[in-house]
Formats: sequence, C-alpha cells, structure tokens
Amino acid sequence: MKRIAILGSTGSIGQSALAVVDAHPDRLRVIGLAAGENVERFASQVMQYRPRVASMASAGHVARLRQALGASDVALPAAGRDGLVAVASHPDVDIVLCATSGTEALEAVLAAIDAGKTIALANKEVLVMAGGVVTAAARRKGVSLLPVDSEHNAIHQCLHAGHRGDLRRIVLTASGGPFRGRSASQLERVTAAEALQHPTWRMGRKITIDSATLMNKGLEVIEARWLFDLAPSAIDVVVHPQSVVHSMVEWADGSVIAQLGVTDMRLPIQYAFSYPERWTSPLPSLDLVAAGRLEFAAPDTRAFPCLDLAYRALRAPDSAAVVLNAANEVAVPLFLEGRLSFPGIARVIQAAMDAHAPVAVETLDHVREIDRRARESARTIARGLESTV
Ligand code: MG
Repeated sequence: MKRIAILGSTGSIGQSALAVVDAHPDRLRVIGLAAGENVERFASQVMQYRPRVASMASAGHVARLRQALGASDVALPAAGRDGLVAVASHPDVDIVLCATSGTEALEAVLAAIDAGKTIALANKEVLVMAGGVVTAAARRKGVSLLPVDSEHNAIHQCLHAGHRGDLRRIVLTASGGPFRGRSASQLERVTAAEALQHPTWRMGRKITIDSATLMNKGLEVIEARWLFDLAPSAIDVVVHPQSVVHSMVEWADGSVIAQLGVTDMRLPIQYAFSYPERWTSPLPSLDLVAAGRLEFAAPDTRAFPCLDLAYRALRAPDSAAVVLNAANEVAVPLFLEGRLSFPGIARVIQAAMDAHAPVAVETLDHVREIDRRARESARTIARGLESTV
C-alpha cells in the first residue's frame, strides 16, 4: 500500500490523481489533501477519501471547510503555505503529488524532501523557480523526483532504454496550442476565450494560456534541465499537434526511443504512483489507426517568442528563470482579464528579463526575493503596455 498526499486536489491534475486512487483502492491510500479555495469540492473530497490531514489556502477557507465537514476526525493544522507543509510532511505519507499551480508549494516540496518522501511533481514552476535548490536537496536526501508532466514522464520512461552516458539529446513534443500556424500580426487580436480552447489536452486556465504562448514548453525545457541534469543544447522541442508521441530521447547511435499514449493525465500520474512497477489501468489502448497521420514541425519562435525567452533564461544564471516565471505569472492573468494583448505576454516577460541582471541562486529566501522584485517590475511594465490594447 502506497500512502499519498495530494497538494492541489481540486484542480485538474488533483482530480485525475483521485481517479487513479479510485482505480487502485488496494494499492493507494490518501493520507493528506490540500486545496486552494474551492471549499465545496474539497469538502466532498475530504468526506469521500477521509485523509488524516487536510488544508486550504487561507484560515477563512479552513474555517468554512470545518463547518462543511461537521464532526470529522481529519486534522486541519494550518492554512496557506504552512498547511501545504503540514500535509506534505505528515509522517504517514510515502509519496507527495505536487499538483498546485504557481509557486505556493515550494516550501512544502522542500519539507517533503527533507522528510524523505518520494515527490511526484506535476507542477513545473517549482523547478523553474528553484530547480537548483530542490534538486540539490533531493540528491542530499536520496529522494526521487518523479515527473508527472506528460513530456517529462515520457522522458523518464524512455531513459530506461539506455545508459545515461550514451544519451545524445531529448526531444520534447509540443502540441503548438490553439494558435499554431498563425502569424505574429494575427496574434495581436486573439482573445482569452480563443486561447482557452486547447486542441488536445484539457487543463487549468494558466497552463492552457501557457500552451498557447509556447511558454508552457519553455517552462518544460527548464524543468527538463533540472529533472534530467541536461545542458540546454541537449534539449530540443518539436511541434506535434496530435500529442500522441509524448516525448522522446535520442541515443549516441542515433536510435530514438519515444513514449506514446492516450492524452489522459491519469497515465503519467499512475506511472509516478506505481513506479518502478506498472499497474493495469482502466484507460483505453492507444488506437494509432484512429489517430491517423502524425505530424512534426519546428516551433515558430517568431510568432511565439516565449520558447526562446526560456532558452535565454536557461543559458543565464539561475535567477533569470525566476524572473521569466514571475513575469509570466503576472502577464497571464492580465491577458485573461483582457487588459493585455496576447503578444503582450511575451513583451512583458522580455522587458522584465532585460531589466534584470541574472545572478546565481542558493536559497529559497533568495528565490522569493528575486520573485517579488520581478513581479513588481513586470506589473510596472505591463501597466505601460495596457493602454496599447
Ligand atoms: Mg506538459
């Protein structure tokens, strides 16, 4: 029996993770759950899975949860970041699935590593912001970081096909998002509603916009650098609109090993829970005949400059990636609110990076400080652009 904690249980990944638990009641037991602000959905999850510990974004949300639960023996020790830490480091937990969006769970992931938990990582911002700090801690503690992001999960699987020293490069696939094929000038006028229509994956709002700008792939390039300890030149991206090939690795002899599967996050989540075993799954078999033609193309970095900005951050000292991520987290909500144009997202990020002199990052406090200043800078830059919408 593997005992799990899920950070972000009411989100898209969190709900898929609970579906994996439902499919394997004899192998998985929910010990901890944490969610943000959706009291209603979270209360029903807590009543169904009866975790030992739970938490929400604020003391107010925890109070409403307590009211919704009535008489219950679930511990609600804290809220916000402290609550995430309490759930992630509960002594009975073996595996922590980090499926929160953004950077709220950074402390919780480090606390879980410190407590020797296996980390199933669905959140890419944690590694983009603090990849050096997190991977150093995991190495020190001998803790596994198992990627749930479908591309990295694919790479993790493909890497079993050879010896690490014989790896030539990895190739992350990108769907290209809903605006694939559009020119830079056509993108000036696209709306948030259009951007939220992802062609192949159903996901949360932030990551769906990141997919439309290709920033999601940029963040994944940085994520891959940390997960697999790779040089930027050993990480390539190819656009593959069907999302059937989830990613691939190329070996020294030119052999390419790919992982394919249905586009359902239950697959990589279950892999992370079951690893190193493989369990049967209720998912349908991949039907390659029905999938039809599989296409591959180079990314259009002129129309979608965010991918190049991520490579730029990767080649610079670590703080550049913190600024890239912070500026993106400021710009995306402004676009969703209609206050910033779609290309404005990349403009805010580029200007925030131009204004920052990258430095090495050693501690979480330093990460938080760079992040805070970068957000201020990005907000100022965005205000200057808002009037042009
Ligand atoms: Mg992905």
